[in-house]
Amino acid sequence: MVIKSSNKIEIPITELEQSAFCQDGSNYRTRTLEEEFKSGVRWQKIPTRYLKLSPEEIQDSIAEIKNSLKNRIVVLGHHYQREDVIKYSDIQGDSFLLSKLASEMQNSEIIIFCGVHFMAETAEILSNDNQKVILPNMAAGCSMADMASFTQVKESWVQLTSQLQSKSVKKPIIPITYMNSTASIKAHCGKNDGIVCTSSNAYKAFDWAFKKGEKILFLPDQHLGRNTAYDYGIKEEEISIWDPYVPNGGLSDLQLSNSKVILWKGHCSVHTRFTVQQIESAKIKFPDVNILVHPECTNEVVSMADFVGSTEYIKNTIDNAPAKSKWAIGTEINLVKRLANTNKDKNIFCLDDMICPCSTMYRVHPAYLLWVLEGLVAGYVINQIKVEEEVKDYAKIALQRMLDL
Ligand code: SF4
Repeated sequence: MVIKSSNKIEIPITELEQSAFCQDGSNYRTRTLEEEFKSGVRWQKIPTRYLKLSPEEIQDSIAEIKNSLKNRIVVLGHHYQREDVIKYSDIQGDSFLLSKLASEMQNSEIIIFCGVHFMAETAEILSNDNQKVILPNMAAGCSMADMASFTQVKESWVQLTSQLQSKSVKKPIIPITYMNSTASIKAHCGKNDGIVCTSSNAYKAFDWAFKKGEKILFLPDQHLGRNTAYDYGIKEEEISIWDPYVPNGGLSDLQLSNSKVILWKGHCSVHTRFTVQQIESAKIKFPDVNILVHPECTNEVVSMADFVGSTEYIKNTIDNAPAKSKWAIGTEINLVKRLANTNKDKNIFCLDDMICPCSTMYRVHPAYLLWVLEGLVAGYVINQIKVEEEVKDYAKIALQRMLDL
C-alpha cells in the first residue's frame, strides 16, 4: 500500500512506519499486543482475547500446542525476529535458506513462517501441493518489497524495452530481482528471461545476466545492485537509477545508452540507517574493531567495512570469530543482540546506538503465533499464503535459474 502526497511522490506506508519501534535501548522488551498496538502502525485484526496476554502467559500454550502438532508443522524463524518469537522456531535462517529448507520438508503439512510476506510467498512457491504456508501476521510486509509494485515494474519494463528497441540495442536487457520482492515481480523476471538473486549470489546472477544481455535492470534494492555492480567492475558512469515515479525513469537517452546497470529506486529502511559517521565513532572507541555490514547498506558504508555479506554470512563470521575480537555490525538489531548473547567471549555491538528493529518483522508478536496455532488445533488454517498458479509457475522459473547458478 502506498500513500500519495500533494507533490505526487508515493511512499509505501511500511516505509513511513519503519521507525515505529525505535527506542534508546533502556527498555527493549515484548509487551502485550494491546500495548504494542499503541505504536500506531497497521496490525492485522486479531480476536480481543489475545490482546492482553503477556509473553509469559503465551509461552506454555505455544509450547504445548507445538508439541501436540509436532508431526504436522514446522515453525521457521527469520534471524531478524525478536527473541520472544525465534525461541519457538524449529529452524532459523535467512529468507533464502528458510525457503529452501521449507521446500525440502516434504513431511511437514503446515509451514509457519515467522518472517515477512515475501518470504512466506517464496516458501509457498517452493513447497509442494500438499503443504500449506502460514504467515502469523498478514501486516508483516517489507518496505523494500513495497517499493516495487507489479504495476510499476510492468509499466517501467514497457518504457525501458521500447526505448532500447528504438535505439537498436542488439542484446536484450535482463531483469534481476532480489529475493526481497513480491512473487509477481519474481514471475515478471521468470517470464522475461530474468532471474532471482540473494545477497550471497548477486555477483553470480550478474555474471549469468551479462552472458545473455547487454544491460541489467536490478530490482528493487538499489544498494545491493550498486554494491554488486562495483564488485563486478562496472564504472559509476555505467550505473543509473530508475525512478518509477517519473517518465522514462528520469533517464535521458544518453544516460540510458551508457548504462550497463539500471537500478530500481528502492532500499531497505533498516540497512540504510547505517552511516560512515557511525563507523568512524566505532573506530575511535575501539581502534581494533572489525566492521561487518550487510550489502543492503549504502556503498559509502560498504566501502568502509572490513567484511560485507548476507545475514547467514554475518552470523557465521561472528560464530567463527576468535575470542576477545571486537565487532561493530550493520544489520537488524534482533540478530545483532542474539549474536552478542551467544558469543559472550567477543565484543559484539550494533553500529547504530538506537534500538531500531525492522518494524514489519516486529509485527510477528508471539500472540499472533499462538492465534494461528490455536486455529490449527481447532481445525482451520488462519493466514494461509496462496500464490496464483501462473505467478507461481513463472516465479519458479526465475528461482530455479538462481538455484542452478
Ligand atoms: S530488514 Fe529491510 S529488507 Fe528485510 S524485511 Fe525489513 S525492510 Fe525488508
